[in-house]
Amino acid sequence: MNKDLIIATHNAHKAQEISAILPTYRIRSLADYPNLPEVQETGRSFAENAALKARQVSTQVNGLVLADDSGLCVDALSGAPGILSARYAGEHGDDVANNRKLLAELAVLPALAPFRAHFVCAMCLAQNGQQLANFTGTLPGVITLSPRGTNGFGYDPLFVPDGFSCTLAELPAEQKNTISHRAAALRQLSEWISARDCSTCSSQGVTL
Ligand code: IMP
Repeated sequence: MNKDLIIATHNAHKAQEISAILPTYRIRSLADYPNLPEVQETGRSFAENAALKARQVSTQVNGLVLADDSGLCVDALSGAPGILSARYAGEHGDDVANNRKLLAELAVLPALAPFRAHFVCAMCLAQNGQQLANFTGTLPGVITLSPRGTNGFGYDPLFVPDGFSCTLAELPAEQKNTISHRAAALRQLSEWISARDCSTCSSQGVTL
């Protein structure tokens, strides 16, 4: 039987990647709940923001809620864009402007190349306003100043994962979904759920 999971995101790319990585789950996202109020991401870390989103949304819907707070941290920029990744250039979710800003910031720091960076994906699972578990995945690599590829989203055209010569946006989705920060966090989630996929969970008030 497929398990239900509500992803606390309006980002269709994230929801699509999570669906592809978890094919045995029936995934819904906030697109299926258009009347829910926006969650203010006021946390100081990816983990805090994931917890805020998971807890708030899980008080408003029935079922298991998974929140993903993710982004790119560039060493030469002291970890920026970091938790501001989605709104680095101002407007939330403007990938083109965000990439342009990142390239401009790095272009003036040639002495610091190659530009080491990593993606982070912090996930929080919650139900009925209660945090059940947290998972974190990372993906190390370097930023290229020559954007390449059209797959994926966000900073994918600028990010070359360690062990590859192409950008994440040049990789087929299936390959990104085996190496990504999101896939790493979701592997932990699957293990966590499998370990508790038993009758004792319902006696603890957790419905899996
Ligand atoms: P959030 O919705 O606040 O978690 O912000 C996520 C932002 O981080 C996205 O809008 C992208 O800019 C960036 N990001 C997160 N994951 C990825 C990825 O897998 N590829 C490229 N960019 C990503």
